[in-house]
Amino acid sequence: MCGFVGVIGGPRTAEGASHAVAAEIHLALQALQHRGQDSAGIATMSQDGRRFAFRRGLGQVSQAIGEGDLAALPGPLGLGHVRYPTVGRGVLEDAQPFFYRQPGVLMAHNGNITNVGALEEALAERSIHLMSRCDVEPALCVFSDALMQARPAGHRTEDALGALRVVQERVRGSYSLVAGLLLDGEPTLVVFRDPRGIRPAMVGRREDGAWIAASESVSLDALGFQHAFEPAPGEVVLLRGGREPERHALTSAGAAPCVFEAIYFARPDAVMSDRTVYEARFALGEALAARLREKGVEGDVVMPVPDTARPAATAVAEALHLPLREGFIKNRYSGRTFIMPDALTRKAALRLKLNPIPREIAGRRVILVDDSIVRGTTLRRVIELMDDVGAAEVHLAVHAPPVLHPCFYGIDMSTRDELFARRFTDGVLQGEAMARLEAAAAANLGVSSLTWLTVGALDDAMGGPRCAACFDGVYPEPIPAADRAAIEADRRAC
Ligand code: SF4
Repeated sequence: MCGFVGVIGGPRTAEGASHAVAAEIHLALQALQHRGQDSAGIATMSQDGRRFAFRRGLGQVSQAIGEGDLAALPGPLGLGHVRYPTVGRGVLEDAQPFFYRQPGVLMAHNGNITNVGALEEALAERSIHLMSRCDVEPALCVFSDALMQARPAGHRTEDALGALRVVQERVRGSYSLVAGLLLDGEPTLVVFRDPRGIRPAMVGRREDGAWIAASESVSLDALGFQHAFEPAPGEVVLLRGGREPERHALTSAGAAPCVFEAIYFARPDAVMSDRTVYEARFALGEALAARLREKGVEGDVVMPVPDTARPAATAVAEALHLPLREGFIKNRYSGRTFIMPDALTRKAALRLKLNPIPREIAGRRVILVDDSIVRGTTLRRVIELMDDVGAAEVHLAVHAPPVLHPCFYGIDMSTRDELFARRFTDGVLQGEAMARLEAAAAANLGVSSLTWLTVGALDDAMGGPRCAACFDGVYPEPIPAADRAAIEADRRAC
């Protein structure tokens, strides 16, 4: 998972001064910090499209790009990126945005391109070679090469649309792309989503004529942009300072936005598909409460695992007429903890991040609400902590269905063998199978009960089309077995 931002400033002033966007991108990236902490980067382009500048670094935005770097990033158009690697490792060479010299293109993306190997081979046949393991690089090379085949210089809108058609034909997987280049003689910000629109994107406008495109609307809010629209699947949007966007529909295969964005990744104040993520999580909590009632689960208090599960826990508490209590405090300032050699130090590492309030837990039957279970490693330790401080009973309630399949579209959620729920089921959850899975998983975790949402309940709560492949195994964009194997092998090696 990653986050991208692209900003193009408003028209030049009467004195000819153009709007420098790097400082705004720095702020917008901080609003997206939750989408990736491995590396951050900003790249800008001059008004005449001849000079490009970069700053990229490892770590969070404020570590990777300092105030002094911003002066070295002039220009009215810029891209920014925060990275959480799903392909390759967290190394500087893989940090985005990327740049291609001919004809001079900046690009960043969020998603996961699944046929990198095939693209690399096809590019090598044209003597174009890659310098990183970041999957945006082959997409950038395919786009730039198609542009250069259209004409050697002075590229026009129709050249870019033609080149993006080539990207759409050749590049597989999920991508929400943002690019910056000179088109029709003007700095142009290009936004492009894959034919399924799996990863999010939002465009915003501001009164001064500036435009922004970002992974989440929270970046728009931070900079005073109004939410304009979410580009449709397969749509190209061209943004120029002080002008209305140009929108072009390429091939769409039907929308399949990632449902996990609402469950876990996006910020609750983000707007996706005309709804806040907070509202979506609240609806998931209401659906979860209905399942808990149906199963006859009883408790004294409802408690979220902070922070993502809080809206759903609020909904569960309201629906079941139970008090909502905070039993864990998240330490926002703890850094990365390293692999701990024994159980005692592993528990210490968890308590550094998530410390229980024993008086809220001791002697109570706690309905503990969490967003999802992927590997289950942290959750197991949370439950051990609750036992240590004397919870009378723990009833685990999860506002998502069991994760039974890996994601190949940009969320690094383990290989199939590592998925917690997969240990207790063959993946088919019809009839009594869900109840058997919940009982086996509860016994394994040592809790009194475990309740997941069904895929049907998830659909009812979310509404609309979606990708839910990690739950139901239906991958909207086919991935050949060889590509799946390559991605899983890469994850195992990390
Ligand atoms: S498989 Fe899951 S995490 Fe991946 S895009 Fe689909 S819903 Fe999102």
